[in-house]
This record gives sequence, C-alpha cells and structure tokens, in this order.
Amino acid sequence: MNDIILLKQGEIVLKGLNKRAFELRLIQNVQHRLEPYGKFNVYSVQSTIYVEPQDSCDMDGALEACKTVFGINSISRAAACEKDKDAIVKTAISYLGDEMRRAKSFKVESKRSDKSFPMTSIQLSQYVGGELSEAFPDTAVDVRHPELTVNIEIRDYAAYVHGPAIEGAGGMPVGSNGRVVSLLSGGIDSPVSTYMAAKRGVRIIPVHFFSFPYTSELAKEKVISLAQILTKYCGKMTIEIVPFTHIQEEIREKCPEEYFTIIMRRFMMRIAQRIADFNGCKAIITGENLGQVASQTMEAMGVTEKCCHVPVLRPVICFDKNEIIKIARQIGTFETSILPYEDCCTVFTPRHPRTKPRLEDVEELEKALDVEALVKEAVKNIERVTVK
Ligand code: ATP
Ligand code: MG
Repeated sequence: MNDIILLKQGEIVLKGLNKRAFELRLIQNVQHRLEPYGKFNVYSVQSTIYVEPQDSCDMDGALEACKTVFGINSISRAAACEKDKDAIVKTAISYLGDEMRRAKSFKVESKRSDKSFPMTSIQLSQYVGGELSEAFPDTAVDVRHPELTVNIEIRDYAAYVHGPAIEGAGGMPVGSNGRVVSLLSGGIDSPVSTYMAAKRGVRIIPVHFFSFPYTSELAKEKVISLAQILTKYCGKMTIEIVPFTHIQEEIREKCPEEYFTIIMRRFMMRIAQRIADFNGCKAIITGENLGQVASQTMEAMGVTEKCCHVPVLRPVICFDKNEIIKIARQIGTFETSILPYEDCCTVFTPRHPRTKPRLEDVEELEKALDVEALVKEAVKNIERVTVK
C-alpha cells in the first residue's frame, strides 16, 4: 500500500505574497526532522505538505516527529491510490477496515481539487458510502454525528483515503520570524517560555549563566539536557554558557545585599544584549512571571530591561504556575526541570531583596563596579555547546 503523511499548514495559509517563503521554510524543517526515519520526498500542493516515503521508512516515527513541527495544524496518515471510484472503495476497505468495524457510525467526506474527476464530491461520497455500508453492515451511516469520518481527497496525482486527522503543533515554522536570545535556567519556566517563543517561528539561541563552583557541573548538564529536549521543537541550537562567578562575587563584595539580585539580573540582560547584537537577534526572551519573586515585580523588571535596546519578551508573564507546569509536562521538560540542582540565581540570595527598586539608586550603586570590563570578560569566556 502507498502510505503517505499529509500535513495541513496552519497560519501560513493566511500569508500574502511571502507565503511561499514560509512554506519553503516549513518544508525544510520537516525534512530535517524526518532525517532519522528514512528517505522522504516532501513537497507542498495547495497548502498541504505531502510526505512520501522513498523506501522502507519508519512511518510511525515520522508521524510522531511531524507532531512537533511548528507551522502544522493537523496531520493525517493516508493511503494513496488510483483516481478511480472502485480503487478508492478497495483502499478504504483495506486501510480503514479496523476503524470501520470498531465505529458504530460513519460518513464519507470527499474533496476534489482535480475538477476533471468524473464525479462530484457528493456523488463520490454517496458511492463510496454505499459500498462501505455493504462491506460493513454493522456500521450505520450517520451524516450528522458520525463516530468515524472517512476522508477522500482527489488531488493532482492521486486519490487519498484517510481517517480522522490528529492535531499538529500549531504556530509558525521555526526560522520564519527571525532569531532571539532566550535566557534558559534550569527551572520550570524558561524551557516553557523558550518553547512558546519557538512556536511563534523564531530560531532560538539559548543563553545560560553558570556560576561554577557555586553551581555544579551537574547544573550545567541539566540545562544542556533541557535544551536537548527542546530541540524536538526548536531544531538544532547552540547554547551560550556564560561564566558568571566573577560578576556575582564582585556584586557581593561591592553592593548592598538587598540590591544583589536586581544588579545581577541587569548583568544578565546586558550580556544577553551583547549576544543578541552579535547574532542578529531582535529580542530577548525570559521566563519571568509577574509577581513570582522579588525580581519579577513590574518595578524590578522595568529596572532590569533598561539595560537592553531590543524588546524583552516574557511569554509566561501572566500564567499561573499550574498553567506553566501543564505545558512543561506536555513538552517533556518538567521531569528534568525539577531535578534538584542549584541555579546561579539562588547563590548569594539576599534575605530582604528590594521589590520596588528605583533606576537612579541602582545606577548609583553600580558605579562601584567596572561594569564594562566585567561584561567583556564574561562574553570573552563564553563556552558554546551545540545540541541536536
Ligand atoms: P525558571 O524561571 O526557568 O523556573 P527560575 O525560577 O529558577 O527558573 P527565576 O529566578 O524565576 O528562574 O528567573 C527568571 C528568568 O531569568 C528565568 O526564567 C530565565 O529566563 C532567567 N534566568 C534565571 N537564571 C538564569 C540562568 N542561570 N541562566 C539563564 N537565564 C536565567
Ligand atoms: Mg521562574
């Protein structure tokens, strides 16, 4: 049997003149994602992407992989056959036989983009419906609320028969909306915010601040594992691991304790901005969440983002923790995020952090530090780890 996968494009179909560019990006992303499952011919016709196996491919694996590609709304595995009414019936009986036997009721729905086909969609549905009724007498026809819909599509090169479509990952193809830097800690929130940004079609450069020996080698490995899990959605990424120990020690030594976190976070933002500039990134993503901790009040976020000239986007800003956890579980990062390793944010945490810092005060206190030299030193010693 000629088994193929049909991918229905999401929001791309609403695009105007640049639609083809989005489509090509999506095709490329699908091709990359399917590499481990065999050789496929991937092409698009009329807002549908066809995934045709070229030899003995792992179709189950390919189907699973397609579920994580952004830019796809729904996925169907279909059988291709000759554009002939009886060939279609034969294919439906063999390909959807198990589903037909299991369902209490069914209907046939046909679509015809090849208008030269000698029957209208309604005629074809009636014909195939009648034949299936005879072949499966225990399954009733119900055009209003069928348990199973048998879909037939008559397209340019072949007819396709498939059962219900499954949901795709939605969003826009990664790489179609530019590049961003995403601050990735080992926590629960930032893998989710990274995933959400990628879903809107941006390519991600993850940045992690690492405070060895206050945070262990295992904490670093945890972040690399998180990035690894995210590649399923984001594609290949290179993590920028920024040595942060010297900066934190300098702040501890020269700044008042209650301002420690806010000043540290401003360093993170400054370094993120440098990495963004260097890589042509047009925004910085964080997993910040309004009111979650002292450094995430509106005042504190206002003071930290003053160090950046690109927008700071915070995909989970208004989510409840439960909502963030729900997504973390769905995308498979939760179990890794809760492993008990320290993050640099929990090193030298002030007992009474400032929740409503003022920019003038913070800038005054930062005069005790050689900000530019510290930033330069950290950027110069970045370690890069590629995950795919
Ligand atoms: P998460 O928010 O991911 O659960 P967290 O709660 O430990 O981790 P916060 O202290 O809430 O982190 O920090 C807010 C945001 O700052 C994070 O979501 C992340 O974007 C960024 N951040 C914190 N620590 C780091 C780090 N070590 N490296 C990179 N980014 C970090
Ligand atoms: Mg957090």
